[in-house]
Amino acid sequence: MFQRLTVLALAGVLSFGLASGADAVAPFDFNSTPGRLPKTVVPTDYRIALTPDAGAKTLRGTENVALDVRRATSTIVFNTHDMTISEARFDGARVARITTENDKQLTTLALARPAAVGHHVLALAYAGKIEDAPQGLFAQDYRSPDGSSGRMLSTQFESTDARRMFPSWDEPAFRATFQLTVTIPAAWSAVSNTPVASRTAHGGRQTIVFRRTPKMPTYLVELSAGDLASTSVTGDDGVKQSVWAVRGDEQYGGYTLESAKRILSFYDEYFGVKYPLPKLDHIAIPGGFGGAMENWGAITYNENIIIHRANATLAQKQIGYSIVAHEMAHQWNGDLVTMGWWDDIWLNESFASWMAAKATDKFNPDWHWWQGQAESKENAMNADARSTVHPIQQHVVNELEADAAFDPAITYDKGQAFLRMLEAYLGEDTFRAGIRAYMRKHEYSNATTADLWNALTAASKKDVGALAKAWTEQPGYPVLTVSASCDAAGNRTVALAQQRFLIDGTTDAKTVWNVPVGIASGGGAPAYVLLTSAQQSGIPAGRCGEPLRANAGGIGYYRVAYDAPTFDANRKGFAALPDDDKIAMLYDQWALVRVGRAPLATYAALASAMGDDRNATTWGTIVTALTALERDTRATPDHDAFVAYARGLVGPLAASLGWDAKPGESVQTGELRRTLLAALGAWGDPATLAEARARFDRLAADPASMPADLQATVAGIVGTNADAATFDKLHALAQSSKDPVLAARYRAALMHVRDPNLAERALAIAVSNEVPPQQRASRFGYVAAVADWNPKLAWSFFQAHSAEITGNLSSFEKILSLGNGVPGTFWDAAAPADIEGWLKANLPPNAAEYVAKGMAKARTDGAIRARLRTEAHAFLAARGAART
Ligand SMILES: [Zn+2]
Repeated sequence: MFQRLTVLALAGVLSFGLASGADAVAPFDFNSTPGRLPKTVVPTDYRIALTPDAGAKTLRGTENVALDVRRATSTIVFNTHDMTISEARFDGARVARITTENDKQLTTLALARPAAVGHHVLALAYAGKIEDAPQGLFAQDYRSPDGSSGRMLSTQFESTDARRMFPSWDEPAFRATFQLTVTIPAAWSAVSNTPVASRTAHGGRQTIVFRRTPKMPTYLVELSAGDLASTSVTGDDGVKQSVWAVRGDEQYGGYTLESAKRILSFYDEYFGVKYPLPKLDHIAIPGGFGGAMENWGAITYNENIIIHRANATLAQKQIGYSIVAHEMAHQWNGDLVTMGWWDDIWLNESFASWMAAKATDKFNPDWHWWQGQAESKENAMNADARSTVHPIQQHVVNELEADAAFDPAITYDKGQAFLRMLEAYLGEDTFRAGIRAYMRKHEYSNATTADLWNALTAASKKDVGALAKAWTEQPGYPVLTVSASCDAAGNRTVALAQQRFLIDGTTDAKTVWNVPVGIASGGGAPAYVLLTSAQQSGIPAGRCGEPLRANAGGIGYYRVAYDAPTFDANRKGFAALPDDDKIAMLYDQWALVRVGRAPLATYAALASAMGDDRNATTWGTIVTALTALERDTRATPDHDAFVAYARGLVGPLAASLGWDAKPGESVQTGELRRTLLAALGAWGDPATLAEARARFDRLAADPASMPADLQATVAGIVGTNADAATFDKLHALAQSSKDPVLAARYRAALMHVRDPNLAERALAIAVSNEVPPQQRASRFGYVAAVADWNPKLAWSFFQAHSAEITGNLSSFEKILSLGNGVPGTFWDAAAPADIEGWLKANLPPNAAEYVAKGMAKARTDGAIRARLRTEAHAFLAARGAART
């Protein structure tokens, strides 16, 4: 599932022995894999025949399961959820009793007489339902640009919702083959994991039989059906890839197909195992879910990820590209080799994210993709600096808790960053050799983290399990403090000390990591030290007075705090440092300011030392920090002075770039321009506002007159600063736009409006029918955007309209987005007890852990904002600019 340089090979690592012992996790073994289902009865093949009734949202099914009974038994236990089994026959004989416990999602069959060891057949007839939210087989309503309405069906099974569509052994270690048959209206198309084997028309309906799948887990089975059409491409390897969409929209799948074709060849080569199915479909669901799902051979996506109309921005294509690459990586890591149990979901997700970044960077060098990934690493490090965080590997007691293991910051982003650091440490070729061996050894089967470490250990001759242990089995990461000493000849050595980096006031003196530290002095190449203890001294570090990088290339998943003389040398030489190092230093210094370990002036000193830097990511990190400070100072007398400082810092660079792209300019320059203009617009810069308004008038008269990327920037600026007339004009554009993505972009711009009267109108729009059914999941995001300027208004509205706002989120999406999102969004709008009370009253009991974490996070963030307000005041006072 989803929801985002070239890697340096770290040569010449000095090893001092590893800090931890052997790994605690064991290789995959079916019998000892956790789970609730007995392992005495194992399905080997399912033949499922489904007749969905899309109008009534019901389904009927029959199922023949070939079973391998491994120990004589008189009961058979499997998963069902919200379904009724009307008939069950075991080897042709009716069973004695069918007991369904819907709350446990289990059905138990009592056999008329015990089943002997060996092969048997279970035949079931059942009835279930078609869901409204993406869990199981679900109905997705949509409105086409021409105004017509439609309904399609699709599936979302991960983690535990296959059992809503068919009775199943719905745990990932129970691999089996599947042959699906579906009866649907004659005019519809249907897509599943494998190609169509036969199609028979009968009386306005048709029955489609799909080919048998390879052995795979239940959560990867897929079925989509509706008025769908496709466009295809076949690569040199003979694999046919298609983009499926609501009829008419498939024409916008070209970019995705071309991307997917290159990615597939790259993965075939990288994994050393060819993509094993004859086809790979990419299915656009209008709405449905925010991300995508890696069903084997039939990946489902929110349509915005793979359907790119003429007005798609570069950012949309970039996100689309990286998600397609993520889901395609899962076709190997996840589908061909599956984690044995949900404890190891990170194996699927981190790996797919890391692999996707690698592929995206390889094929789009002008995007500087790894630099941008520093932001996802930063997201992970911010989450991972809290005492409530869980490690990458987390224990999942039973599969009903599995959804909770999909934590974007840790499961995806920390894992990706750790794998990158590990690849750099082992070397790119060695790492790939280990991955290839792992794929070959576990194909069509399951694996654990230990299996991956064993494969990488064999390839690298390094004890990868011991190295990785602290990173994956314990939460958090270290901050390294760097203390330099000089000898009489001007040679520098450093002492490194590590300590867990925490932002919530807690301490942790116990945890020590094995940290590969890349040290580079001046413009020199990095030398590597493996820090294996709390501190280590006497490490050679070039010449005194030269800039010193203790996380060369920014690849390490740790922070660095330099002593004052070294920081000063780095500040003086900052403009000439490589971009990757600047990004890492800016992020680290900002983090040190936020936790109170460094004054704001140190960060501002780096931001003022950028020289003629024009890198979009370095400046993006600075704009992000300034934007946070602008928000935090809003209700204080320092706001105007801070805004003046911020405008002064980025204004000259923005002016030198202008508004229009120069011929031949890089992707980076365009991105930098939009970042700076959006910031200046949000900070109310008069010249930027005037130009944005003039350009908006031209845009309103002729939307085709402006490049898509700039449209988004202009709409954003005028939306924030809108008066009633501008609001009306923007609203009219949202209503008249035939392109749903464009309409959504204009609608989003309305939500950021500062004026409270207009904010009330924006909220009304957010829950109106103007939002087409397929975009209703955006409603919470709209209300959250209104809360930026009008938090109290948004909070009252949210409470009064929460059912409409969150109505078609799945229960998991609701828990995830609200448990965390509500405290974070409305912290400044209500008393903490009111927020917590609302969540407890409106979310199911299994959301308690998310609510507790969301509240703790909002509380810590509130304290950080208070600290930053104090810092901003001191900083401005020292500049003689504070109001006292
Ligand atoms: Zn994924």
